[in-house]
Amino acid sequence: LLQLYAPLNFLGFVYREIKHSLADMEKMFTLMGQNAEVTDIKNAQLLATTSAAIRFDQVDFSYEANRKILHAVSFDIPAGKTVAVVGSSGAGKSTLSRLLYRFYDVSQGSISINGVDLRQLNQVSLRAHIGIVPQDTVLFNDSIYYNIAYGQPGASRDEVIQAAKSAHIYDFILSLPEGFDTLVGERGLKLSGGEKQRVAIARTILKNPPILIFDEATSALDSRTEKAIQAELKEISANRTTLIVAHRLSTVADADEILVMEQGVIIERGRHRDLLDLGAHYAHMWQLQQGDEENK
Ligand code: ATP
Repeated sequence: LLQLYAPLNFLGFVYREIKHSLADMEKMFTLMGQNAEVTDIKNAQLLATTSAAIRFDQVDFSYEANRKILHAVSFDIPAGKTVAVVGSSGAGKSTLSRLLYRFYDVSQGSISINGVDLRQLNQVSLRAHIGIVPQDTVLFNDSIYYNIAYGQPGASRDEVIQAAKSAHIYDFILSLPEGFDTLVGERGLKLSGGEKQRVAIARTILKNPPILIFDEATSALDSRTEKAIQAELKEISANRTTLIVAHRLSTVADADEILVMEQGVIIERGRHRDLLDLGAHYAHMWQLQQGDEENK
């Protein structure tokens, strides 16, 4: 009986793992409000690079027929550089990150990495190269250790600890009643917005991807946490090709290029200083936010 038990136990483990990863996928797609709508071409290429140059070339996109969301959007993110997108709600900012992750394929134009069109690439290998720090991180009903280690299945305990330290969440974890074994998620300890983002940052540090997408939370964190998260973001985005969807202009001031979007069109672009000098849309947004800061 014992001989039978071991393989059954193993099967149970495999089953749980599969169920878990399906649940994760579902969760992720629900989170992003999407379905997996793209299919790989036959003999799709495997992406394998540590240095990724991204190009959006005349990209048009519609979720539904008759309603175009992006109009001829073109920009480059050279390998290791950071591009930030700002603009009013509904302008199409997050859509850019969904297209880069290939939740959808573009309607016209192309997105490429190191000159290869995303549609030529194997989706799984593409996504393995991208770390996402989303607006609202979904935590699994599991230990905080699992929630970080999930970034890189097979990571050693030391690596997980190191990632937690780099994401500045290690001391917080040690202060919890059961440390890394503390259960979080809906049925466990509820974490604050900032703590959840740090878990996502730790996951990403562990995954160590060449491409990073940071979708800044719309809901404001307290200003100390916000500054700390921005500093951590700066650290992990160094040397990674980074797309930031920003809601606060203080996050974008250091970007190599800032894109200002309105209704699916890039209406201004440049560095922070240049856009302030231009004295148009961005400069106006900046003035408004400075006013908000002072009123805080
Ligand atoms: P915010 O700053 O509010 O996050 P955003 O600039 O990131 O806004 P997107 O999320 O890119 O805006 O949305 C752009 C437009 O696309 C919006 O008008 C939105 O209603 C629409 N949209 C987004 N997701 C879908 C979807 N799954 N199906 C249909 N339309 C969608």
